[in-house]
Amino acid sequence: MLIWGAPMPTEAYKGYFLICDECHNVMEFDYQDIHAALIAKAAKQGFELRAETIELTGLCADCKAKATDAAAVGTSA
Ligand SMILES: [Zn+2]
Repeated sequence: MLIWGAPMPTEAYKGYFLICDECHNVMEFDYQDIHAALIAKAAKQGFELRAETIELTGLCADCKAKATDAAAVGTSA
């Protein structure tokens, strides 16, 4: 939901996502250290932060395990 004219910059929307390239599973995570660092960086530039969205793509634990299994099957024997 978008809130126009939100009075507090600290109330900026935060969305940190881990997205699997294989199964497209999306996991949201909360990381206060990242938030604090972004707020500080933005403030240094005189930038009013309104939203933070970070998408990290890669392999989830399940798909990584499958890929490792497949590789092991391919290389063993
Ligand atoms: Zn996956």
